[in-house]
Amino acid sequence: EAKESGRNAYRFFLPEMTQRVTRRLQTEAELRKAIESGDLRLHYQPQIDAASGRVYGCEALVRWQHPERGLLPPDRFVPFAEQSGLIVPLGEWVLREACLQQVRWRDAGLPPLDVAVNISALQFRRRDFVATVARVLGETGADPARIELEITESALMDATPELVASFDQLVALGLTLALDDFGTGYSSLSYLKRLPLRRLKIDRSFVDGLPDNPEDAAITSATLSLARDLGMEVVAEGVETEDQRGYLCKRGCRAMQGYLFSRPLGVEEFGTWFEEQAAAIA
Ligand code: C2E
Ligand code: MG
Ligand code: MG
Ligand code: MG
Repeated sequence: EAKESGRNAYRFFLPEMTQRVTRRLQTEAELRKAIESGDLRLHYQPQIDAASGRVYGCEALVRWQHPERGLLPPDRFVPFAEQSGLIVPLGEWVLREACLQQVRWRDAGLPPLDVAVNISALQFRRRDFVATVARVLGETGADPARIELEITESALMDATPELVASFDQLVALGLTLALDDFGTGYSSLSYLKRLPLRRLKIDRSFVDGLPDNPEDAAITSATLSLARDLGMEVVAEGVETEDQRGYLCKRGCRAMQGYLFSRPLGVEEFGTWFEEQAAAIA
């Protein structure tokens, strides 16, 4: 009897499983093609020095211009890219495109901007990561002093000596390292002491409740003083309101990013926004 139902289960299970596998393979093929054929896009979100109001940099954020489904946000395909291993070519494409864009802006006569690039833990933990970064920098001619790599705490879990060495090698290349989504991961604070991280990005989930939520305010204040004592800079993410900006400013947080200033913009929109901004300040 068990055998009988087992066979039935098998019979009913198989088509569904086959379908799921087929869909996965399809998505994988589609994403692979998108990476190769140029259907990925980078949008750039300005980063502001809130004390002076000036733009000092931007964060590159990937999108997929899907032929049928339109412009897809990273949440819709980055996790899949990580599961399938496609994050490695995708991540290299992102880094290269961000470097090329920095060079294009430089050639167009824009004042130099820091460009921050998100690096998945899976990318970062590969043995050839530092070599890949060095190669992309060389091939594009980007200024490493103005390229920032954003990693998350998951990249730091059980930091091996090799991993620590690769941090030092990236810094030796001239790059800046930033810790993204600070406070949302699992790792211990001791990595702040051991690793050459220049910036902490306070996660949007903490900025959200400012200034009234006492927990968010406590976490934000603690992060700011911890960073100050460790000689690190802080960038507040997801700043949406004047009240949040004011609260952060008063506590010495200068660098900010959020819808209050601008959403992530396509290259052309970014250029227009940048000019308007410069004109307003001048
Ligand atoms: P993240 O690196 O923490 O990027 C910040 C996210 O917050 C962006 O979402 C941005 O649009 C959003 N954001 C910024 N300001 C505000 C605000 O004021 N309010 C709200 N509600 N949201 C704000 P996005 O572009 O959808 O990216 C989501 C996540 O996808 C990123 O979080 C990052 O973890 C990942 N991601 C994006 N691009 C890449 C990439 O090239 N490689 C990798 N590995 N991951 C990426
Ligand atoms: Mg980021
Ligand atoms: Mg973040
Ligand atoms: Mg994130």
